Amino acid sequence: GKPIVAIVGRPNVGKSTLFNIFANSRISIVEDTPGVTRDRLYADTEWLDNEFMMVDTGGIEIMNTDKIAVSIRQQAQIAIAEADVILFVCDARAGITHEDAEVAKMLRQSKKPIVLAINKADSPKQEMEIFEFYNLGIGEPIPVSAANHLGLGDLLDAVVEKF
Ligand code: GDP
Ligand code: MG
Repeated sequence: GKPIVAIVGRPNVGKSTLFNIFANSRISIVEDTPGVTRDRLYADTEWLDNEFMMVDTGGIEIMNTDKIAVSIRQQAQIAIAEADVILFVCDARAGITHEDAEVAKMLRQSKKPIVLAINKADSPKQEMEIFEFYNLGIGEPIPVSAANHLGLGDLLDAVVEKF
């Protein structure tokens, strides 16, 4: 089948905003946990003759152990397990949070290829702030702004390079 790219990261970093930009057509909801509203979303995506499936997840809430947060984390883990490439999203304005560091640790353990997107880099000033994200130990942070549609081509180049 087509390669699968899973978008992961803590809540509110802009995963779904990026997903909706990249999803050019059919978005399908995959619900494998009855009663859970935030399941995985799949979309056919294409970039430079590469066809792949993009998966959006509810976000990994490391510190929260209530039922919904646990299932969101499970959804993310399923997405990571089935992914060929992981698109890890962080927030340029927030800097590295404890949750980002925990997610990074979990992703490194997966041994999957990871592309690190630093979203909300809305202005050139924020592009300087992305350098701290090298400290996650994931590799080169790629600044993007889903809101202003900046850096998205470079990001997809980095993703398809990993196939
Ligand atoms: P998710 O929880 O990771 O899926 O995040 P969402 O896609 O739902 O976005 C969370 C919030 O961040 C929303 O209010 C978005 O409008 C906002 N947001 C997403 N991308 C950007 C961006 O590039 N810049 C700014 N300033 N805000 C953004
Ligand atoms: Mg979302």
